[in-house]
Amino acid sequence: MSYDDQNIFAKILRGEIPNDTVYEDDHVLAFRDINPQAPTHVLVIPKGAYISFDDFCENASDTELVAYMRAIGKISREEGVAPVAGGNGFRLISNAGEDGVQEVPHLHVHLVGGRRIGRMIQPAAI
Ligand code: AMP
Repeated sequence: MSYDDQNIFAKILRGEIPNDTVYEDDHVLAFRDINPQAPTHVLVIPKGAYISFDDFCENASDTELVAYMRAIGKISREEGVAPVAGGNGFRLISNAGEDGVQEVPHLHVHLVGGRRIGRMIQPAAI
């Protein structure tokens, strides 16, 4: 599977469509989800062209990997949901591929919080 540079997050990174940015550095962009599922719902994406978490872990540089993780932590603190900074908690979700129900094929982590998020996954027959 190759990276589709027409996906909506690639367009956001190129400035072709607007976004509600909450954080940006050389390697990372984070913006509010257009259809929020919780009071805090931020999407954190690398600026590099990575399809999913597995692609990123395999192919990103150490610098990109570190920047991404640090950014997620920083955003959780800035959003006031980080437990180590007195927040009430959050959940990270990164959907990958068909079974993961990934809609946008550019790696993103959903950072959701601000309310009790509930069960980790929907119960279903395994
Ligand atoms: P996923 O199913 O993990 O691929 O989630 C994709 C997410 O992107 C969904 O939560 C959408 O609401 C969100 N989304 C799609 N288009 C935009 C956009 N233009 N700006 C912000 N969020 C978006």
